[in-house]
Amino acid sequence: MQESDEPQLPAEATAVGGAAFDGLPGVADALGRALRDLRISVTDRCNFRCPYCMPAEIFGRDFAFLPHAQVLTLEEIARLAAVFAAIGARKLRITGGEPLVRRDLPVLVAQLAALRTPDGGPLDLTLTTNGSGLLPLAVPLAEAGLARITVSLDSLDDAVFGAMNGVDFPVSRVLDGIAAARSAGLAPIKINTVVRRGLNEASILPLARWARDEGLVLRFIEYMDVGHSNGWRLDDVVSADEILAVLGAAWPLEPLAADYRGEVAGRYRYLDGGGEVGVIASVTRPFCGDCTRARLAADGMLYTCLFAGSGLDLKTPLRAGASDGELAALIRATWSARADRYSELRSAATSRLPKIEMFALGG
Ligand code: SAM
Ligand code: SF4
Ligand code: SF4
Repeated sequence: MQESDEPQLPAEATAVGGAAFDGLPGVADALGRALRDLRISVTDRCNFRCPYCMPAEIFGRDFAFLPHAQVLTLEEIARLAAVFAAIGARKLRITGGEPLVRRDLPVLVAQLAALRTPDGGPLDLTLTTNGSGLLPLAVPLAEAGLARITVSLDSLDDAVFGAMNGVDFPVSRVLDGIAAARSAGLAPIKINTVVRRGLNEASILPLARWARDEGLVLRFIEYMDVGHSNGWRLDDVVSADEILAVLGAAWPLEPLAADYRGEVAGRYRYLDGGGEVGVIASVTRPFCGDCTRARLAADGMLYTCLFAGSGLDLKTPLRAGASDGELAALIRATWSARADRYSELRSAATSRLPKIEMFALGG
């Protein structure tokens, strides 16, 4: 923190409008949505080459990832996160790229775990990872204050998973990481599965059976037109309805109410008591109306939508000595003007608009 342990915000930088959204103080955007979640990308690099995110033919050895000098330091990330918390963010998700390839990640986790909401409570701190590096890091992350974790896993079959991760990474090592996370006390453990037609539909039932047996919260994600590298086609999307039909035929389901306003996963309960399962249906059931998420990229750019083509540079003022109040005012002004609703407007034309790649702006 530059000036004190808590950001000191001038009156105009503190938030207004968020209470109308969910009853909590905070800044509201042009469509009345509060800023509640901050996704923090700690790196644009990754050891996987999932074809739906960083296809190997585009992101080869010569690809120019961010030079280290352009990447926010852990201290800079923690300082910005504190400013977001002071203006109403309540949930922090560490992501990337692959966050576990960032050196000293537990140091950042400890700094973020120490942050408080304006009313003095802890923030909801979590992390999304491909799980490949989780085995040695689960305990240090939990000890640093990480409460829970999401692991992406697209199949339990090595051949299918190898095609989905692009580097033939074996399923067993991700499962070892998940077991380590469980032993370290991270709970709940959520599993994210992107379903892409022609690649892993046959993995839906085995993954669901495994998650039921293991007590894991599985969420299937519709394949999205993020960035421009993945060659997305609507035909490749397996819809939430299709996924739920496959699941429901094996184990009847009933919908559950959302836990909170802004929850992205549609949640379902297995009627036989086998737990719950979710679908994140950004393509067929857009949820922009409740979208409370901001994204801080590894280079300090702030994006207000997963499909953004431009953002706000926070690194330059940060490194030029801006106060917490000045940074808060910049964020507040950007969020107040936000009118993003890409998924609700999705069409062939919007799909062609300039978009930042997902690994770069934080998934
Ligand atoms: N590397 C980490 C991981 O894979 O979990 C974190 C970053 S990744 C960009 C975050 C999430 O976005 C992952 O669950 C991944 O499966 C998902 N994702 C990436 N590209 C996607 C796409 N085109 N459509 C839907 N989900 C996608
Ligand atoms: Fe890496 Fe995650 Fe993107 Fe896969 S989805 S390439 S693991 S950042
Ligand atoms: Fe939020 Fe943009 Fe996704 Fe809509 S398209 S839910 S505004 S991130």
